[in-house]
Amino acid sequence: MEEEDPAVYWNSSDKESLVVFDRDRHILYLQMMYQLLPSPYQSQEINRLTLAYFVISGLDILRALDRVDKESVINWVLSLQAHPKNEGTLENGQFYGFHGSRSSQFQSNDSGASTPNGSHLASTYCALAILKSVGYDLSLIDAELLLKSMKNLQQPNGCFMPIHTGGETDLRFVFCAAAICSMFKNWSGMDREKAKEYIISCQSYDGGFGLIPGSESHGGATYCAVASLKLMGFLDEDALSETARCHCINVPLLLEWSLQKQAVDGGFQGRSNKPTDTCYAFWIGGVLRILRADKFINKKALREFLLTCQSKYGGFSKFPRLLPDIYHSYYGFCAFSLLKEPALNSLSVELGLTDVAAVGLLSFGLS
Ligand SMILES: [Zn+2]
Repeated sequence: MEEEDPAVYWNSSDKESLVVFDRDRHILYLQMMYQLLPSPYQSQEINRLTLAYFVISGLDILRALDRVDKESVINWVLSLQAHPKNEGTLENGQFYGFHGSRSSQFQSNDSGASTPNGSHLASTYCALAILKSVGYDLSLIDAELLLKSMKNLQQPNGCFMPIHTGGETDLRFVFCAAAICSMFKNWSGMDREKAKEYIISCQSYDGGFGLIPGSESHGGATYCAVASLKLMGFLDEDALSETARCHCINVPLLLEWSLQKQAVDGGFQGRSNKPTDTCYAFWIGGVLRILRADKFINKKALREFLLTCQSKYGGFSKFPRLLPDIYHSYYGFCAFSLLKEPALNSLSVELGLTDVAAVGLLSFGLS
């Protein structure tokens, strides 16, 4: 049935969308997502802070933060913070970060009694990233408490659990922890040496990184590894130079793996022999930027690939000629920022934010 083919929503005869980054339409797309998320996102309610991060930070990249009510955003994000009932509860290994949404903040068990704190490392990263994007002064948050409790999540092998009740441990949560410490400019929340050892153990024989030791190299995991090392101060500015200090990981092999992920259609694939996908233009393009090796990317071909994923409704899809989604839209904007598209804010690649947000040039504290 033709009308069930998502491709029909994308007008391939619309030649304009193939050659121009349609900033105005992308702003409208994110504005729409800011006002009301479409029903397909219902199942992701628990990750509401993450979805909000894509929208707010996306608008920041597009230089359109004037479209949001910053005070409301700040109040909403702060309302999702977990607080201990008293000092004593700090001792039982709980993490006092941010809840992903109301439903994880006020979840109840079968008996109707509310279950304890389910704040999550990824939600906490997104909460702080949003707050920084809208110019909130993070020194107004009790960082000591948050970081002290976060340290409980670090495992003996250096990796992090995302939540105090357990869950999978992998490089994603090492990155979240490193980004959280970096945003607070306070590293008391983690043992950096142990985290570094864990990251090193995730580098595969081919130079990329898997999410856990011994797993297949993957673009997202490789970003988490390299960005974390950069944030923790283990990677020199010019990691490729002969005199670079960091020999903890195999940088030349990492460079080779990353460059090989750009396929003949111009896009990046997340793993060998997989189709190219919008988001890896950031995950792997970002790694190459951190290594100062983005000069080796075929930028013209990458741009052409990304434009085939640009929707005429604004936003980007995962693969060419599909409907857009928030996740791939955000990483599409990030990729265009890395490609130095005019009228976009530049990125602090290792933090996953704009430079303006990372440095904190906006100022918007609430008394
Ligand atoms: Zn993707």
